Amino acid sequence: MIKELHEKLVNQEITSEQLTSDYFGAIEKKDPKIEAYLNLNKEFALGKARAVDKKIKNGEEISLLAGIPCAVKDNMCLEGLPVTAGSKVLENYTAPYDATVIKKLKKEDAVFLGKTNLDEFAMGSSTENSAYQTTKNPRDPSRVPGGSSGGSAAAVAADMCAYALGSDTGGSIRQPASFCGVVGLKPTYGLVSRYGLIAMASSLDQIGPITKTVEDAAIVLTKIAGPDRNDATAVKSADTIYENCLTGEIKNLRIGVPKEYFAEGGLDSEVKNIIEESIKKCEKMGAEIVDVSLPNSDFALATYYIIMPSEVSSNLARFDGIRFGQSIGEEKSEENLVLKDIYFKSRAKYLGKEAKRRIMLGTYALSAGYYDQYYKKAQKVRSLIRKEFEETFRRVDLILGPTAPTLAFKIGEKTENPLEMYLSDIYTVTANIAGIPAISIPAGSARIEGKDLPVGLQLMGKWFDEETLLNCAYAIGKKL
Ligand code: GLN
Repeated sequence: MIKELHEKLVNQEITSEQLTSDYFGAIEKKDPKIEAYLNLNKEFALGKARAVDKKIKNGEEISLLAGIPCAVKDNMCLEGLPVTAGSKVLENYTAPYDATVIKKLKKEDAVFLGKTNLDEFAMGSSTENSAYQTTKNPRDPSRVPGGSSGGSAAAVAADMCAYALGSDTGGSIRQPASFCGVVGLKPTYGLVSRYGLIAMASSLDQIGPITKTVEDAAIVLTKIAGPDRNDATAVKSADTIYENCLTGEIKNLRIGVPKEYFAEGGLDSEVKNIIEESIKKCEKMGAEIVDVSLPNSDFALATYYIIMPSEVSSNLARFDGIRFGQSIGEEKSEENLVLKDIYFKSRAKYLGKEAKRRIMLGTYALSAGYYDQYYKKAQKVRSLIRKEFEETFRRVDLILGPTAPTLAFKIGEKTENPLEMYLSDIYTVTANIAGIPAISIPAGSARIEGKDLPVGLQLMGKWFDEETLLNCAYAIGKKL
């Protein structure tokens, strides 16, 4: 889709200004119901679009992404524009600089339509934890779009942008992509800079594309990947053109299917059937299906829910009512507060329930006396999970399974039971724990209550082997 839009722009069949206006038209029409966007940048976007049109008229060569309208999850900084991370703490806060991914996309002349909704600080699986609004699933508005990048996934699915950026700490790109029927890629930890992404859990967070097609995901990845002196963990050199790796040929590729991902009990039968169909299709295309076992996956969710909140408790300490965003100290009635009260009262007032829950869990896991029992132990299990992947990837090139155990669930269905909500991430958190790349692609849909609800298939790859991952996803996508 990006390539086609690019061709149309270059051949002057359409202008970027027209394209951008059309997207704003679609947003105006659909977003009052879907609520994917938190804010829009009409003037900024149209200004950029006109500048690209001028370049085209002047016969200048333009980038593949030039003039193509996109959306950005509202936990990434775009200089001069609000960035809320879905939290009241950051209401009225303006980003003082561009995130590295934004800087890179600006260099390509991307057009930013606006910022999309998310669970507060990216903590959640449904966008219901957003302090502002709950995004609806475009396939069935009585259901969640997934989360935390639910706004980005819904915007792509409802054609309210050509592509979007999301962030993924435990599944937040892939699970909403699965629920909305679009493609979501979490790159290898260290492939894309996190500078300017409001941190949730720094050892797990990665930025990645949410797109209509696998080719689009490859195109966007090519542009946002690469080392960054502002993020020491972004290490891989930026010389791969991922879209050029898409041959669609997967003959003799060894695809591992972990038996733990199909265990009775957790997995919906609709999801299971569709994934099993896809496995057969891979076999028909000449891939070798290998039964594998990842027994430590059983501990992945427990490990994630120790490591992630521990890092959350540390990262969110900066929102103290003094350094960033809203402060109780600015209220007239609270004039004589001492510093400690400003901290306590600001955090009590402006942070949401889920953020507080995780800060408390994390603080507990890191506290003297419990550190060894929880945090250190979780880190040990993390090493075991990583090792298990290393060993498995000696036998196979990729691992295939479902992205999420269920179809998109109803709004409100899991809000009272955080544990049930956490189970949404059972197949996705392992990739973050191990740092490997993973992608969710639409594999089919199940008809429920008169609506076609999409099912996502997840492929996980070797560290920094996005080429093989994207190529296999591309091949499966073409066949389905
Ligand atoms: N749903 C998961 C959580 O709530 C993942 C979040 C994410 O990837 N940002 O932690």
